[in-house]
Amino acid sequence: MIGDRFSLRSAEMLILSELRLPIVSPHPIDFADSIFHLVREKYRSLVGGCGPAHARHKSLAGIVMTRDLDLRYAQVVALSTGTKCINGEYLSDHGQVVNDCHAEVTARRALLRFLYSQLELFLSKRLEDWEESIFVRHKECSYRLRDNVHFHMYISTSPCGDGRLNSPYEMTTDLHSSRHLMRKHRSHLRTKIESGEGTVPVRCRGPVQTWDGVLQGEQLITMSCTDKITRWNVLGLQGALLSHFVEPVYLHSVTVGSLRHTGHLGRVLHQRQERLGSLPAAFRRNQPLLSGLSSTEYQQPGKATCVSLNWTQGDQQLELVNTATGRRRDTATPSRLCKHALFTRWNRLYRKLGVLVSSSADRQLLYSEAKMAARPYQTAKQQWFRSLQESGLGTWVKKPPEQDQFLLSA
Ligand SMILES: [Zn+2]
Repeated sequence: MIGDRFSLRSAEMLILSELRLPIVSPHPIDFADSIFHLVREKYRSLVGGCGPAHARHKSLAGIVMTRDLDLRYAQVVALSTGTKCINGEYLSDHGQVVNDCHAEVTARRALLRFLYSQLELFLSKRLEDWEESIFVRHKECSYRLRDNVHFHMYISTSPCGDGRLNSPYEMTTDLHSSRHLMRKHRSHLRTKIESGEGTVPVRCRGPVQTWDGVLQGEQLITMSCTDKITRWNVLGLQGALLSHFVEPVYLHSVTVGSLRHTGHLGRVLHQRQERLGSLPAAFRRNQPLLSGLSSTEYQQPGKATCVSLNWTQGDQQLELVNTATGRRRDTATPSRLCKHALFTRWNRLYRKLGVLVSSSADRQLLYSEAKMAARPYQTAKQQWFRSLQESGLGTWVKKPPEQDQFLLSA
């Protein structure tokens, strides 16, 4: 046990030592602490007016942007809370709901809104607006992040799924009885269960989810946050739609509030990429720097609520989403994070930036068609799914295809 602990510590130091901080922080853990403080302070300032009910959370996630790892110019660009997924009966075939309101997942969606707003600066005729963007023109109609722009994710608890289950230093349950379970399903893909908070390993032959089945009460299955983070490390945070305009955007670091040792999570992230062949140009095996915090003082054992907050830089207010319906809590209207809202922004860019996605440019595209037309992204995705299966880690479970077959409403 002591040896194991030592090797974890060594692995941790190895990963942390790669974090080069030329300007501000002499020690990487200080950098992780700073990321946490930035996110926590932004969260506190935003919930200030919301009353005590929303000031508590069970899981908080935020994304901080730095230039050259210089914390003097660090900005929180996306933030969210949440621990639950939608009830299957509320699935939308018009893209009008948010299916997964776990904090790190909605933080990524909030980041997408930031990336869209940065690309929208190129629609302006004013040169100074373009120069403000974090993107630079790369090829014709294609953009990439400026070299010195980095994104850092903070998550208050380790991501659900394998990253949490097999992290012995975070478990408070009887370690001895859980060891067998840990060995059996080590690194396996896991899925969130509807209306609950735990995860279960995917079945050998990934189940096919059907629209009518889910509406009739079959459990809706959503991949765990560990699985989604490992996916972002191969395919990027930007998703299929934005891949038409920008090169993949990866996380530079991940800070986990409750993590004592980065060893296990680091292994999971690494192992998921082992059998991956060569990827299409610009995609890579990203290994974000991992860190816990220097102190464990900050614990927020709030009860899980059915509300998920989200905010993106530039927003005046937080948005509150009812996690059971996937819609805004106050008005029951679609969230600004839903597929339909993001597809609307994508469509506007698509028309104005002159990117050729489909040979029939005048025809309106289905959401699913626009995603499928991002060829290199889809190639990388299929390749990654295959490598997971070949590694015996399981099959990625998809939502019923009907949910992506919608057009933008006028
Ligand atoms: Zn989760």
